[in-house]
Amino acid sequence: MNTIIKKVDFINPEINEDVFLQAALIIKNGGLVAFPTETVYGLGANALDPIAVKKIYAAKGRPSDNPLIVHISEISEIYPYVKDISEKAEKLMDAFWPGPVTMIFKKTNLIPAETSGGLDTVAIRFPENKAARFFIKKAGFPIAAPSANSSGRPSPTRASHVEFDLNSKIDMIIDGGYAEFGLESTIIDVSGEVPCLLRPGSVTKEMIEDVIGEINVDKAVLEKLENGEKPKAPGMKYTHYSPLAEIIIVNGDINSVVDKINFLVKERLIEDKKIGVIATEQTKDRYFCDNIIIIGDRNKPEEIASNLFRVLRKCDYLGLSKVYTEAFDESGIGLALMNRLKKAAGYNIIYA
Ligand code: AMP
Ligand code: MG
Repeated sequence: MNTIIKKVDFINPEINEDVFLQAALIIKNGGLVAFPTETVYGLGANALDPIAVKKIYAAKGRPSDNPLIVHISEISEIYPYVKDISEKAEKLMDAFWPGPVTMIFKKTNLIPAETSGGLDTVAIRFPENKAARFFIKKAGFPIAAPSANSSGRPSPTRASHVEFDLNSKIDMIIDGGYAEFGLESTIIDVSGEVPCLLRPGSVTKEMIEDVIGEINVDKAVLEKLENGEKPKAPGMKYTHYSPLAEIIIVNGDINSVVDKINFLVKERLIEDKKIGVIATEQTKDRYFCDNIIIIGDRNKPEEIASNLFRVLRKCDYLGLSKVYTEAFDESGIGLALMNRLKKAAGYNIIYA
């Protein structure tokens, strides 16, 4: 299959209407179109068409029990697809939509089992990115879209990442530049009594609690699950975000971390492996290593979060086999950042 790649202006998508009409035609005919959002690139299909949705799983190599997020372009579009919207859910919709928050509701029969991974709930997101909304609007139905990467690889924050993973496996990529937040959406289950955070993201637990009071947090957000334990978001059980390189997180006070990483790099060099270090602006000049990748400013966790997946992909691009990284503070967006980094490292953490 020849994958069509077209650039669009994500601030004024209307000027590229022809591209969106072409994408809408593909998706109406049951095809797959990758599109930009403010979190990561999504791989879209008609959420109401089981055959189209199955193609997403095939292109990504995604396990079929891992449900998809359904994207809408206006709040009013949600009503045919969900059963009850609680008062707390309404408050969250008011506060954070459009934006990087996905909410889980009880679903109606219009959502096929293929889209919901066989669950009786459905994940809904109303993205902020104008190109994403323009695309959904032109399609005329909700778009099911997981991240547009090969399953298990770091999520794509650039059209070039989508092309690398899925070229010739999907019909089209809408290139709308880089994804602003760079981490997948926050997922909150509002289908039960007490809302529960299933996946942390750039809308933080603290921000949510400011609006609706205390929420629960699924265990999979905080720690590695034991064998047999099930996360409430099925996708959280899979190895994720992994580059080919082995990633090792070194935690502790920053001076000890730098010393420890320098010690480990020196020790490993005899093994004749290509070693790398993920460093910050503050520490980049303190490492003795040929491959130093700068992830951002330690004092700007949003910047580090938005660079994370690009940096993990760069580890592969450089052909690294072992990469040491500093750990980051876990408050605010740091919870989401460290959740993704720990998964990329397979929970391989050393204390300095
Ligand atoms: P992705 O779009 O690749 O970021 O993955 C979507 C995430 O949403 C996965 O972790 C899914 O398991 C989760 N998800 C989607 N639908 C539901 C649902 N109905 N209940 C719980 N988690 C869901
Ligand atoms: Mg994903």
